Amino acid sequence: MTELAKLKREYAELVIKSGLNLQPGQRLSITCPVVNADFARLCAAAAYEAGCKEVLVRWRDDALTRMKYLRADDAVFDKVHSWEVDYCDILSEEGAAFLTIHSEDPESLRGVDPDRLRRSQISSGRALRTFRERLSTFQCPWCVCAVPSLAWAAAVFPELSVREAEERLWKEILAACRVDGGNAVQNWRNHADEIRRHVRMMNEYNFKLLKYKNAAGTDVTVELPEGHFWGGGEERSAAGFTFSPNLPTEEVFTLPHRTGVNGMLVATRPLSLNGTVIEGFRFTVKDGKIVEVHADKGEKILRDAISVDEGASYFGEVALVPYDSPISQSGVLFLNTLFDENASCHFAFGRAYPCIAGAEKMSEEELKARGVNMSITHVDFMIGSADLEITGVTQDGREVPVFRNGNFVF
Ligand code: ZN
Ligand code: ZN
Repeated sequence: MTELAKLKREYAELVIKSGLNLQPGQRLSITCPVVNADFARLCAAAAYEAGCKEVLVRWRDDALTRMKYLRADDAVFDKVHSWEVDYCDILSEEGAAFLTIHSEDPESLRGVDPDRLRRSQISSGRALRTFRERLSTFQCPWCVCAVPSLAWAAAVFPELSVREAEERLWKEILAACRVDGGNAVQNWRNHADEIRRHVRMMNEYNFKLLKYKNAAGTDVTVELPEGHFWGGGEERSAAGFTFSPNLPTEEVFTLPHRTGVNGMLVATRPLSLNGTVIEGFRFTVKDGKIVEVHADKGEKILRDAISVDEGASYFGEVALVPYDSPISQSGVLFLNTLFDENASCHFAFGRAYPCIAGAEKMSEEELKARGVNMSITHVDFMIGSADLEITGVTQDGREVPVFRNGNFVF
């Protein structure tokens, strides 16, 4: 076996053991691009090794997805097949594990009708609501990871030959996931513990406000809702097992109060959105709502993205990522949110993770009243920098430094 083949096997084991923490007797659903069937097989083998009851696979293909958006009958974008809903509902009800493997060409949807994308987002958001709620409240373990495809690798490293680009992207992904040839699960354990330490600190301080400032121009105050909590690294499923929903991950996150963000947010890294790279953009925010948008490149696409529904122009996530994290230090723009969001402190416009104590028992109205933003979209964008300062304000008005020079103080 080549060195890379060994590392891929170790990565697949990491996904099953740490990403999902798959338990004996549990079913596993894998969603995987057909070009990465070899990696799906490695994951399935690791799953059966761990006592998996049954592995079910849903294949994806960039070219077929694109073809559908370009050529299918217009009516299909407003409908989700009932067997698709059944698949998700039945498996999530029994507590199955869900693995999604990504390798999309970031440009595969370039030029498709944005209205078709929007409508299909809306219809699947509606039809799969129960399933998505189960996932977002961690009823079942789930994990999102990525492996290279030739198209994705070529987009990230256009200066290399496709084979070299693929190898380089593997190297970056494995490094970001701490897969080093033998100790991946332990390395991930240590890393997750470090994230948990930061999560605990943020929860103990229970800040009322966060104030951000850097030379790029970000100058914003973020109110955190009453009862909010910070998450990151690992979550706990309803069955009581910890798992890592994102591989890799660096972030410690919560939600802002829907109407509590004020000031200016300036992006420090480009954003890849449906095949277009948006650059040099900033938002002016008043009482939580984006009231002004500017982008040097891709402004129209960005304006469309924050207008898909009312909640799209409000925020759903604040996330803290140290500037010295490996993805940040690699300097690579992965053109994939799973990696790029872990390169930098970020916000997301759109839907909030309901990081409010007791959220799983609250109705949509109650959540809204608590400051949880609702939307069909959720888009992360990066605002971190080497000089970013974040200061927390406690409930009794005390100021505590949280970030200095782009990294955690504590
Ligand atoms: Zn995030
Ligand atoms: Zn996000």
